[in-house]
Amino acid sequence: MSEDEKARRFVDRHFPEVARLLAARTVTVTTIDHGDVTVYEPAWCLGVHPTEGYRADIEHRGQPIRLKADTACHGEVEVLDVFLYQRPFAEQSSTAPVAVVALDEWHEFDAAQLAEFGAALTAFVAGPLHDLAEQLRLLEGGEQ
Ligand SMILES: [Zn+2]
Repeated sequence: MSEDEKARRFVDRHFPEVARLLAARTVTVTTIDHGDVTVYEPAWCLGVHPTEGYRADIEHRGQPIRLKADTACHGEVEVLDVFLYQRPFAEQSSTAPVAVVALDEWHEFDAAQLAEFGAALTAFVAGPLHDLAEQLRLLEGGEQ
């Protein structure tokens, strides 16, 4: 019996409420290379876990925070999304939580739109982006 299994049984026996809470924070994903894989589900994950992939491709994604802009060429566009992301079984990259910044393409702004975009950028950096950086800093410190 592994140390993990011993610890789990101890908790099951002596702390059933804790065991129930821990069990609620896992998710089982069916993979094509490792069958059913049960992984810890971080509180920040949106819980969307498609099956039929490889275990290495299992990923946790957090709620995206989005920066939008009103442009001269396309009206309102999504400039970027930032979200927490983790691939606990990744083989080619980190298995730790990271922030993903997903960027959009080229867009045109008139002067008023550019000023408005600047204000939105400032608010985005000071608000949601700052908060997400704080959350990631906690995750990197070992708290999950
Ligand atoms: Zn997840």
